Amino acid sequence: MGSAGEEHAAAAASSMSQHDDDITDRHGLAGVPDGFQRLWTPYRMAYIQGGQGQVKDPETCPFCQGPHRSDEESLIVHRGTTAFVVLNLYPYNPGHLLVCPYRHVPNYTDVTPDETAEVAELSQQAMRVLTHVSQPAGFNLGMNQGAAGGAGIAAHLHQHIVPRWGGDGNFFPIIAQTKAIPATLSDVRQQLADAWNSVS
Ligand SMILES: [Zn+2]
Repeated sequence: MGSAGEEHAAAAASSMSQHDDDITDRHGLAGVPDGFQRLWTPYRMAYIQGGQGQVKDPETCPFCQGPHRSDEESLIVHRGTTAFVVLNLYPYNPGHLLVCPYRHVPNYTDVTPDETAEVAELSQQAMRVLTHVSQPAGFNLGMNQGAAGGAGIAAHLHQHIVPRWGGDGNFFPIIAQTKAIPATLSDVRQQLADAWNSVS
């Protein structure tokens, strides 16, 4: 199954290289997804392109660089005062959001009271908006702290908000480290951004 996973990764790499104009940086932030029902392994690109260890400072950090670009390019759903909400480029499910402080800090213990409050408020609103748009049956919320804690980009704190539906798991992640994502990131971002200020 290693070889199956590698083939999918190679196909993804090939596909992405054909759309260089749509890709904004080596971290693969944004880009324009080009189809539905793709078998897509974008999370593997991080390893192919040099691993997560490349994110050490704000200059190489997608959570620091993203806010300098347009919402569409960076997949940003909402910008707050001290924190923002962005679609995870490596979603476990459609609508998988990340709430990040703008500051490049690694640990939950590093954030200020204002940042703590806003990360919490944005997380609550993200749940309301996801519920309005896609009616998930449940959520997973959480922060992975440190590489040993499973953080993909350990240098910059981010809270995951993963909508869950009954039966959303499937065999792909087990047999081929591949997950079917049935909606494009740009479509999902637009839906959530449109709903953000109208849902309460
Ligand atoms: Zn950062």
